[in-house]
Amino acid sequence: METLEFQSEARQLLQLMIHSIYSNKDTFLRELVSNASDALDKLRLETFRDKDLTADTSDLHIAIDVDREQRTLTVRDNGIGMTRDEVIGLIGTIAKSGTAEFLRKLRESQDAAGSQDLIGQFGIGFYSTFMVADRVTLVTRHPRSAEGVRWESTGESTYTIEDVADAPQGTSVTLHLKPADAEDNLPDYTSTAKITEIVKRYADFITWPIRLLPERG
Ligand code: ADP
Ligand code: MG
Repeated sequence: METLEFQSEARQLLQLMIHSIYSNKDTFLRELVSNASDALDKLRLETFRDKDLTADTSDLHIAIDVDREQRTLTVRDNGIGMTRDEVIGLIGTIAKSGTAEFLRKLRESQDAAGSQDLIGQFGIGFYSTFMVADRVTLVTRHPRSAEGVRWESTGESTYTIEDVADAPQGTSVTLHLKPADAEDNLPDYTSTAKITEIVKRYADFITWPIRLLPERG
């Protein structure tokens, strides 16, 4: 297992997410579902382009799974996945030009009201999970890689990465949820009713099937 450091802008954004004063934390689910949907689009496209790519495209979908006892929420897709280098490049750093711009504007705006506006305007992506989780685990496999990769972080300056032998096609992101806290505007995301409501609100435009698995625990 390897421990790596987040790049400095990624660290800044993560700190902002962890100590988020942003009231609408539900957006993390929109970001995860939209990443899953992009991954399914990419797999379909890649298998059209490259007939030698061996991937199962018979049941492309997104699944959301809640475990009340473990206090975890998992969003899974059987899409394109990521190679080890992609995980380090895409998740460990901020490759997106929009995020640098976001941080710059945020520094300029200074006040809380301004930052709320900004988070709404920019897609904040994968790191938004740290608004609601104190640890995030991602397991992924790209169809061209024999092995999968497990990535994990508490969002505090470092993450770990290791190879895993038996990763299924695609990506799963598991959030180890912070305790619900009404004062901090943090709802109980282990509630299937709550998740259903958010998915209806934000994921209506997603064309891939979204399966909400019965809650465990
Ligand atoms: P954006 O989606 O705007 O690029 P994100 O922070 O949401 O930014 O995600 C960063 C990158 O990580 C994505 O562009 C994608 O390459 C990769 N990624 C995230 N989630 C997944 C996923 N479920 N499957 C495959 N790749 C993913
Ligand atoms: Mg995204």
